[in-house]
Amino acid sequence: MQVYRIPALSDNYIFLLHDPQTRQAAVVDPAQAAPVLQQLQALNAQLVAIFNTHHHSDHVGGNRTLLQHFPDATVYGGAEDRGRIPGQQVFLEEGDPVTFVDRTARVFFVPGHTRAHIAYYFPPTSPDDTGDLFCGDTLFAGGCGRLFEGTPAQMVDSLSKLRSLPDATRVWCAHEYTLNNLEFARTVDPDNTALAHRYQTVRDARGRSLPTVPSHLGEEKQTNPFLRWDDPHLQTAMETSDPIRTFSRLRGRKDRF
Ligand code: ZN
Ligand code: FE
Repeated sequence: MQVYRIPALSDNYIFLLHDPQTRQAAVVDPAQAAPVLQQLQALNAQLVAIFNTHHHSDHVGGNRTLLQHFPDATVYGGAEDRGRIPGQQVFLEEGDPVTFVDRTARVFFVPGHTRAHIAYYFPPTSPDDTGDLFCGDTLFAGGCGRLFEGTPAQMVDSLSKLRSLPDATRVWCAHEYTLNNLEFARTVDPDNTALAHRYQTVRDARGRSLPTVPSHLGEEKQTNPFLRWDDPHLQTAMETSDPIRTFSRLRGRKDRF
């Protein structure tokens, strides 16, 4: 399975999964149809599935048009998103398997950004494979999604599910927000040398208009403050020893950053 990263709108990424043998493709969170259709044409591939993480228009905006071109494609989304995702046919819950050609993803129910948000995790299939996590707007490189429909406690619970995956996991998040996220992270975690190093790398990449997605879960665990509610340094910085309050205060500060 090959993953293509397609930039869309101002800062979204759409991910196209492609199986070269069968020429079948699936798309994760098609913000728009046109760039997906273009990539499908370039690969001479047939779209068989749309995997949506949540109902926001910058994640489902291309569903209808893609279905017009590929009426047999199946549209997947969270069970709680019933009625909010155009063309949705499969209503997924925590632990459900989702198959694309010879790969099977596991679904995580990760409410917080929205009340229905899900993530798709493809475990590694061989020792040199990393595993792939498509997490929408829940976990970002260096950050996490805003809490539009969920509580800090829910988001911590959701993020702890993702945090439990292997370090090598590639994190395919839906927005290029990394530089801003790390600029914020430095303000709350100034002594973190791994973070300082990552910030330089990301600033350099963005200066050359290079993408910073995917990241790896291991570096997120080290440098992303929104995965470290139980880190004593961050708890001290947020003036609390309570993990949920630590997360909540971090999120509140980021909202005003
Ligand atoms: Zn969203
Ligand atoms: Fe989004």
